[in-house]
Order: sequence, then structure tokens, then C-alpha cells
Amino acid sequence: MKVTDVHPISIPIPYASGSMNVYFWERPVPTLLDVPPDGGSYYSHLESALEKLGYRLSTDIERIVVTHPHFDHFGIAGLIAGQSGAEIWAFKGAAGYLESFPEEARKDFRYYASLLEDAGVPGTGMEYLEEFFQVFLQSASKARVSRCLEEGDEIELGSTVYRVVHVPGHTPWCFMVYDADRQIAFTGDFLIKDITSNALHQRPAEYPKGYRSLRSYIESLKKARALGLAEAYSGHGEAISDVPQRIEGILASIESRKNLILSILEERGHCTPFRIVKDLFQDLPDWQILLGVSEVIGHLEVLEEKKIVQRKPGPPFMFSLCGR
Ligand SMILES: [Zn+2]
Repeated sequence: MKVTDVHPISIPIPYASGSMNVYFWERPVPTLLDVPPDGGSYYSHLESALEKLGYRLSTDIERIVVTHPHFDHFGIAGLIAGQSGAEIWAFKGAAGYLESFPEEARKDFRYYASLLEDAGVPGTGMEYLEEFFQVFLQSASKARVSRCLEEGDEIELGSTVYRVVHVPGHTPWCFMVYDADRQIAFTGDFLIKDITSNALHQRPAEYPKGYRSLRSYIESLKKARALGLAEAYSGHGEAISDVPQRIEGILASIESRKNLILSILEERGHCTPFRIVKDLFQDLPDWQILLGVSEVIGHLEVLEEKKIVQRKPGPPFMFSLCGR
């Protein structure tokens, strides 16, 4: 690890590759980058890790930086801020979500339920979401944001002034903090070593006009590559020591998934996104159907913009290759 003034703290969680990473800097003010979900022993795990460093979670934390508004990264931010008075910093646009949780999450799930129905899943969309939704609601509470970050803002963490770089795609509000001198960044879920970040479909009310999750994710990967990012500290799992290679690997897997979708459309003529999901992934458990549909729709949107596929309005939506 090129960074020596940060304390990485890995917290075991039962999803997303088995753990999430909190990063703690002691100076200039005690700062946490991301915090674990609410519930379980996550709080006490973080508390005892900080105690070993001489800090109390309930009184000594002055700032919490949230890389993106997913419960496994902000779950107990509001709780800690209520105890210690810590400021919460998040990317511009994420504040509304964090401050109105869980109402915003409810709106998301209602939207995702109708998205699944439009995509052609049998039954009601909610059937596939209920279990995941309950976990989601129990795993976070609302958090008041003190500072909204924007592209180019600077954050001093330890002895380094990092730059905020917007890398949307997994969510519209993902950012990384980047140090150009050492070409390192703390990337949240934008770049993870062992899992490819899902470019999650976003409820239209939430995203900036024209936002398309997969297109944005591909653009963010290319942006990080152009910056020369070499080493990444992620929201889950181990650090990535060869970022250019990881980015090429992700872009190649997106490309091959796209080609598979095109060959399914070629073979089937017209079909729903859910039909494509079934062809691509056998035996997806219910709670992963949204992720599968989200990924396929991400590709279809990109292909639609390039006029390679066309959509027949639904419900359910039917897609086919243009000219077919
Ligand atoms: Zn995550």
C-alpha cells in the first residue's frame, strides 16, 4: 500500500463479497470514508477497531465522507453523526437521498417493481424485491449532509490533498478521491478487485437529465484510465494494484456481454429484457433478478442510442435488432 497514513478497516457483512471497507484518517480531523450498514455487530466492529487506535466512535469522529448512497456505505452515518456531531459529506445530488431515507428507498423499490414488470418478469415485480427491500430498510437510517461535494473539490485526508473525481454509473453520485502525484484513489464501489460493479438502473426522478447507467459507467472507466489511475482502494475487498489492467478487464467483459445480448436478439427476433436475462444467467435467485434486468436494460439503452436495437413500447417492452 502506497498510503501509510490511512487505517483500512474491513467489516464483515453477509453480501457484496463478504466485507466492506472503512478508511480512517486521524488528521487533519478524524475522518471516516464510508461506514458499515446498521444492525448486526457492524457498529461494535468499527468501534473496537477505532478503540485500538485510541479513538471513540461515539465522540471523536468529526467527518464522514460517503462515496455513494448505498446502505452498505452510509448505514450508520446518521447514527454516528448524531452521537459525535460529525459532518457528513457526500456528492451533490446524493444529499436528498440520504436525508429522506427511507422514503427515497421506498420510491426506488416501487419503481424497480414496475421496471421488472415492464421487463417481462412473471407475476408482480415486488415478489422479487420484498426480501432485499426489507434488508435495505433495516440497514440504514437517514443522514443529514453538511457538505455537497462537486467535481474538482479538494479534501485533505492525512498528509494528502485529494481531488474529488465524479465517476457515475454504479450510482449517479459515485465519486473517488484521487491523488494525482501518486496516481492513487479511494474508489468506493466504482472499482472493485473481484466483482464488477453493477451499473444499477436508476429511477428517472433521481438522475441528471440524459443519465444512462451503463453508458456513464463506461465513460467513468475511460475517465479513470485517462487520468492514469494506477492503484485503487475499494469499498469491498483488497486494493487493486494494477488499475489499467482491471479497467481493461471490465471493459472487455462489458463488450462480451453486449455481444451475447446481440446474439440472443439475432436468434430470437423480438424479446423482453427478462427473456434475455433468462438466456444469459441460468437459475438467478429472486433477489438477483433486479441486478440481471438492470444490467440487460443498461446494455439495451446503449444499443438503442446507437440505433442498433429498437424498442416496442409495452408493457412488457420488446426489443429487437433495428431493421428486423
Ligand atoms: Zn457496496
